[in-house]
Amino acid sequence: MKNAIRFTITPKDPAAHLFEITLAVDKPDPEGQAFALPAWIPGSYMIREFARNIVQIRAEAGGKKIALKKLDKHTWQASPCNGPLVLTYDVYAWDLSVRAAHLDQTHGFFNGTSVFLAVQGQEGLPHIIDIRRPEGDAYKAWRVATALPEHKAKRYGFGTYLAANYDELIDHPVEMGNFELAPFKAHGVPHDIVITGRVPNLDMARLCADLKKICEAQIALFEPKTKRAPMHRYVFMTMAIGDGYGGLEHRASTALICSRADLPVQGQKEMTDGYRTYLGLCSHEYFHTWNVKRIKPAAFAPYDLRSEGYTALLWLFEGFTSYYDDLMLVRAGVIDEAAYLKLVAKTINGVLRGSGRTKQSVAESSFDAWTKYYRQDENSPNAIVSYYTKGSLIGLALDLTIREETGGRRSLDDVMRALWQRYGRDFYEGKALGQGVSETEAEALFDEVTGLKLKRFFDRHVHGTDDLPLDKLLAPFGVKLTDDRKDAKPSLGVRTVREGNDCKLANVYEGGPAHQAGLSAGDILIALDGLRVTHGNLDTLLARYWAGDTVTLHAFRRDELMQFEAVLTRGDAPQVTLTPNAKPVGQARKRSRWLSMD
Ligand code: ZN
Repeated sequence: MKNAIRFTITPKDPAAHLFEITLAVDKPDPEGQAFALPAWIPGSYMIREFARNIVQIRAEAGGKKIALKKLDKHTWQASPCNGPLVLTYDVYAWDLSVRAAHLDQTHGFFNGTSVFLAVQGQEGLPHIIDIRRPEGDAYKAWRVATALPEHKAKRYGFGTYLAANYDELIDHPVEMGNFELAPFKAHGVPHDIVITGRVPNLDMARLCADLKKICEAQIALFEPKTKRAPMHRYVFMTMAIGDGYGGLEHRASTALICSRADLPVQGQKEMTDGYRTYLGLCSHEYFHTWNVKRIKPAAFAPYDLRSEGYTALLWLFEGFTSYYDDLMLVRAGVIDEAAYLKLVAKTINGVLRGSGRTKQSVAESSFDAWTKYYRQDENSPNAIVSYYTKGSLIGLALDLTIREETGGRRSLDDVMRALWQRYGRDFYEGKALGQGVSETEAEALFDEVTGLKLKRFFDRHVHGTDDLPLDKLLAPFGVKLTDDRKDAKPSLGVRTVREGNDCKLANVYEGGPAHQAGLSAGDILIALDGLRVTHGNLDTLLARYWAGDTVTLHAFRRDELMQFEAVLTRGDAPQVTLTPNAKPVGQARKRSRWLSMD
């Protein structure tokens, strides 16, 4: 292929976690070709400076060494030369997450943002990637999983793959190793589920059956008539470890990390919390195939990967995706209505727990994701709101409002479909990328699709910090919201974590008894009224008291013993439950229309 950018990537030394990459440019910039690695990876809004993992780098052309000058933390410039110019560099890959790269003797995983330098000015050219097998007999059985289109490689094989441009290249993570692999089809489109890591007696058949239902429900949501998926092929790649959770969305695949125990065991039929959590994660990342990978905020079309991309719309792109992830589980019949309402109640309790929700709007939380949501500290519950969880409640509140006020003729599904048709469907179809959604356009579209005037709602709950009136909104759907916090056991108003056998305060909630008494996050609680506190027994000790009682607390701060008097209260932690009513029938019918596919 003429003038393509050509990469090779080789797991050069798996034990040292080193990939070797070569990059050939046929027509380097005559002024001196510049190369840069992204500072962040789309979907994870934090500056990560991936270039810091480049261990050594050199350039040559026509057998001669070419000087490379470092221009900034992620940019190099070669001295002017004739092509082909070849760069060779090593990348240290030992980040066990979905965001970077990871390599050892058991497997290799990489995102293009961690390993492939962008050839500045030539990002629009086709990129050919030769993915090479590591040397040695131990790697003979390794395979490759990626949604990157094959060039000369066979499916699941080492060899060359092809991306139409740099943007496409870095949106297709690659897994290699001895993974478990099972294919299934969703509305005719091939999907693969790939599991890396030892998982004894893994029930791949159940996984395929459940994912198929979830994927088909989502495809049908966006394209109810044609049931056409937006990609030709999709790959769920999962790394199973002892304890972990995370996912990152891509246009035709997702990289996930989960706890081994969350994956289904052969012969076990029940829906465990862990498995439901895993399916919810898959559902979330899959929904992003439409919402954020194709329907995008204007700030991401295209991405500027050199510095922060600011958008106040993550409440829509992450929040609505969080609303639909569990909703699609119940609509697909993977969980029942009671289980779904429990998940919603849990989200409500989480949002109401932090006073940060009264100080930061979800629009502000979206904009400041880079320095606040992604860089949380012990004070975050008192200072910020999550655009994921409150965003999902905004999705719920809008869905219920639209359904009720249009007499069931419209719903949030219609707004998502309108966003899809207007911004998403053709995003990658033309020669240039499509357009993103601006904040004013997004809000105007709600009114246009529903015929309602929702400005006041957006002002109060998106740009303002008002709590959502979910009790009132759920009532017409036969769901009763109760908050039993007044009957709860007295508490200290803290979240604790285990440190050895000690009880460490992770968060001190503003206004709670621990805050009033002067305790701080980081304190090690050691005694309550002269009785030893361990990580496991704080609630048991507190259960012997009543609200209004004063207790003496001892704690270490910087190894210095300190004493505090705390007045116990109850009611600072929300205890919301959602109960569905069988009657009246009209309400139950509305609820069933909301929670099922038709
Ligand atoms: Zn997400």
